[in-house]
Amino acid sequence: SVPLSFFGGIGAASKNGILVKGSSYLQDLAEVKTMVFDKTGTLTHGTFEVTNIISENPAVNTDQLLNLCAKAESFSSHPIALSILNAAKKAGLTDPKAGVENVEEIAGKGLKATVDGKVVACGNEKLMSLLNIGHDVLPAGSGFGTNVYIAVDGIFAGMIEVADEPKEDAKVVFDLLRKEGVERFIMLTGDSETVARAVASKAGIDEVHAKLLPEQKVDELEKILESSKNGKTAYIGDGINDAPVLTRADIGIAMGGLGSDAAIEAADIVLMDDQLSGLYKADQISKKTLSIAY
Ligand code: ADP
Ligand code: MG
Repeated sequence: SVPLSFFGGIGAASKNGILVKGSSYLQDLAEVKTMVFDKTGTLTHGTFEVTNIISENPAVNTDQLLNLCAKAESFSSHPIALSILNAAKKAGLTDPKAGVENVEEIAGKGLKATVDGKVVACGNEKLMSLLNIGHDVLPAGSGFGTNVYIAVDGIFAGMIEVADEPKEDAKVVFDLLRKEGVERFIMLTGDSETVARAVASKAGIDEVHAKLLPEQKVDELEKILESSKNGKTAYIGDGINDAPVLTRADIGIAMGGLGSDAAIEAADIVLMDDQLSGLYKADQISKKTLSIAY
């Protein structure tokens, strides 16, 4: 049977914007020694800004690059897609979905669509390879943002750089959690090594696995579970493509604000306000609940 204090614990959590889907998760939380994080929307705010546009094809100028890519991305709910669409709207694009067909989103890579009769592909290096887009050297950009490469009718056309800020309190929260017995902090991301390292160092995370496809995140988590059997492992994600990893972890924790419905469904605990401090609050509530129960 469930000790009464667990109901109190779930209530206390809910007053703090933390949805706990069952009393056993409060108990599991107190035993977490490994925390595995998604980057976008979890360690970062998840709201990108366009910081740079580079045209590498005289036939497609920077305004056209932005518009073509934004029109294709208007069918995606990825945070990168939203930032590109917003930038184009600010620059005057109206009715983005007009003239767009055959939209095909490729998880962890980007998307492809026909825009005003032209085949437009926007995504990372993996997408360019998948579509056999020939290019000598991809532009590097500033190195601080995520590069979205664009090809038009099979020819490399340029790139849009987008940047997302790390959450300011990550390091403080993780230091508190370290004192509470969490030993490993790990990042899994589909983004580039450079961007991943920059965010990790600000958050004080030393284990980073970058350039992962959604299914590779599950494989990586399996390895982590295998190597951290002395305690429980939590996966914390905002959710776009993260549902399988959330399900596989001992405890799946989703960001409820920006998170996708699939992630909120798959998670055991939901942080309604997307704040990392919710992890520390939940830890404290779980320990208090256990101390009353036993
Ligand atoms: P994350 O680990 O940051 O959640 P995702 O699996 O969502 O990563 O995406 C990984 C990478 O795939 C992104 O960093 C981006 O380069 C590319 N990507 C995914 N979806 C899109 C999209 N709609 N438009 C452009 N690029 C995309
Ligand atoms: Mg994601």
